[in-house]
Amino acid sequence: MAQAHVLGLPRIGAQRELKFAVEAFWHGGMRACDEPALQDTGRSIRAANRRAQRDAGLDWITVGDFHWYDHVLSTLALVGGLPARFGFAAATRSLADYFVAARGHAGNGTDQRADQSGNQSANQSAMEMTKWFDTNYHYLVPEYSPQTRFGEGTDWLFEEVAEALAEGPNVKPVLLGPLSLLYLGKEKGGLTDRLTLLPELLVQYTRVLGRLKAQGVTWVQIDEPILALDLPAPWREAFAPAYARLSPVAPSLLLATYFGDVSEHADLLASLPVAGVHLDAVRAPQALEAFASRWSSHHDKVLSVGVVDGRNVWRTDLARARAQLAPLAQALGNRLWVASSCSLMHCPVDLANEGQLDKEVRTWLAFAVQKLGEVALLRCSLDAAEFLRADVQEAFVADAAAQAARRTSPRIHNTVVQKRLAALTEADARRASAYPARARAQRAWLKLPPLPTTTIGSFPQTAAIRAARAEFRRHAMSHLDYLETMRAQIRLAIEKQEAYGLDVLVHGEAERNDMVEYFGELLWGFVITANGWVQSYGSRCVKPPVIYGDVYLPEPMTVAWSAYAQQLTDKPVKGMLTGPVTMLQWSFVRDDQPREQTALQIALALREEVAALEKAGVRVIQIDEPALREGLPLRERDWPSYLEWAVRAFRVCSSGVADDTQIHTHMCYSEFHDILPSIAALDADVISIETTRSDMELLDAFEAFEYPNDIGPGVYDIHSPRVPSQAEMERLIEAALVRIPSERLWINPDCGLKTRDWTQVDGALTHMVAAANAVRARLVRQQAQAA
Ligand code: GLN
Ligand code: ZN
Repeated sequence: MAQAHVLGLPRIGAQRELKFAVEAFWHGGMRACDEPALQDTGRSIRAANRRAQRDAGLDWITVGDFHWYDHVLSTLALVGGLPARFGFAAATRSLADYFVAARGHAGNGTDQRADQSGNQSANQSAMEMTKWFDTNYHYLVPEYSPQTRFGEGTDWLFEEVAEALAEGPNVKPVLLGPLSLLYLGKEKGGLTDRLTLLPELLVQYTRVLGRLKAQGVTWVQIDEPILALDLPAPWREAFAPAYARLSPVAPSLLLATYFGDVSEHADLLASLPVAGVHLDAVRAPQALEAFASRWSSHHDKVLSVGVVDGRNVWRTDLARARAQLAPLAQALGNRLWVASSCSLMHCPVDLANEGQLDKEVRTWLAFAVQKLGEVALLRCSLDAAEFLRADVQEAFVADAAAQAARRTSPRIHNTVVQKRLAALTEADARRASAYPARARAQRAWLKLPPLPTTTIGSFPQTAAIRAARAEFRRHAMSHLDYLETMRAQIRLAIEKQEAYGLDVLVHGEAERNDMVEYFGELLWGFVITANGWVQSYGSRCVKPPVIYGDVYLPEPMTVAWSAYAQQLTDKPVKGMLTGPVTMLQWSFVRDDQPREQTALQIALALREEVAALEKAGVRVIQIDEPALREGLPLRERDWPSYLEWAVRAFRVCSSGVADDTQIHTHMCYSEFHDILPSIAALDADVISIETTRSDMELLDAFEAFEYPNDIGPGVYDIHSPRVPSQAEMERLIEAALVRIPSERLWINPDCGLKTRDWTQVDGALTHMVAAANAVRARLVRQQAQAA
């Protein structure tokens, strides 16, 4: 009979226990005497995860998926490969060193990551962080240099395995594979090809795998997710010899792929000396066929098939998944393993903690703990006798009812939205006039000076603001007091901006807890969970809203705040919205319609909001799309179609306004180069973008492609508490002027200022305006000389 397992569980704990324990350890200065308390928390999270798997009835208890900060970092620590620049003892095993690599020497307190560009010396700054494939999880990027050595590392994995084996057999450790560990790192210090480090790394993997075998482990799940990327040939070719080295000394290896279609590697994977392969059948159901035919002729290889979505919150359609699995079960018998598509770390822990959630929507959902049950049920359903068990039948009947209810619920299907979507025309995605004409119309009434100054939207979210929001939410503050508190913040923000001398003002976003959740609470078709946390990086967790139905705007969401701000000043106030792609990207999305369609629905709702702002006299409107770039698919061949619908969604929400209404957008990255044409195609009148961390490197992109509209490359790194000087910002403005004509250049910070305090903001924005003024004066002098 088939077997049931998952690729990993969330490690943060059902109540984010890991976050709080780790942050307390940091706060205390990472003293050895505080370590036992932290270790206790780790042990109890791991014990709970094993219990959940056992209770669900899985055949394998997955371990080795617990990590204090990040699984890539832990794997490096296991093979003695922490970056040499930290100067740790060769084979450091200390938890404190591990955290220093993750966070730099920034000190204690809560996570200092955001401030990593602060005052640290270069060799002590934290390891770089980047997104784990196309998820919202961030891993620490390994650093490989000619100095890189691998060696004896931490014993944490072996301790976890021992802990689990003490409770019973069938323990399956998971380990990030050697090729992915190398590939996901960066070459430094003159190293040109990190693949040359493979032989030395394999020595450590054989040590680790041999030791697991000696502990009594029979199967190891070895993850090689890079197989879902556009993998260069030398990397592909390295698999066979590498696994030929590992398999003779290792327990049976289940090589796990996920996040994409690996059918092009079917022959390679079938021929590798591993005992089994895992496929992500949620992302790439089409790949199953290629593998099924090869696998039936391999008389000993296991095929693990991930049919339960590890990245979303929907309950699995059991009947459908069973139909998908049944022919495989027939062909493979006990060589079929039923699984989650990937680790469950990308979904929240337990639906049982959502007592307040909308009752109907709740019946459509499954979090990690519920998904364990689904995997076990599906395994049972593949056996004729077990399938007839009353509890299994009952579960299938209940699931079928829930699926049917979801398919037909009026909560999901909104005919007004459907009609609007069907009526969308190409003209709806186009402004009435082209940019030059719009720019003229906007200049006529805005009367901005050259190099206009503005900010990205948020001002410091002080403790008082956060307390007011929390009290109001708990019904501990009256609506009146709340409104007055927020309005006082808006008055303060406007006064300050006028005093700095900024040209385009903002209301400050005090009312927003988060740029997606705020809108998710107000739009129909979204629900917000109370406890649906997932790890973003280290101790940082996020709580993405769930988009379950057609997105509908019941009433304006921002007009009252923005209009109030506008009425306090003669300067233009910029309205502030989060764009459709970013809302989609930072939410759990529907799996019953294409992402593209959900994006368009959000765009239509925003289009109405934009119209309402315009009507209320807010005629500069910014629509933030910081997540546009991270939505790019893993394979380059899939980029064009994504970019096409993403751009269209933005244009649908921004194109319903008059020519003289000015649309801004904002993005927080400088890796512009490869998608510059699409960014231009958004056709925003003005874009602001992060550049200071890359020292205006972005501007090189303009060698090849001239950005046609107005642009504000950030001149103030808001990630740092440091207040940049006027001279520094003048230098950055001058650098920008080399590539961007002065008529189209704006002056602004890199991003919103919500994480800064007012003293820093006062200093930085005063300097920023002074820098703009100084450069303006120079421009005037130059023009006079030229004339
Ligand atoms: N308007 C938002 C702010 O200023 C933008 C945040 C972001 O780009 N991440 O906070
Ligand atoms: Zn930003």
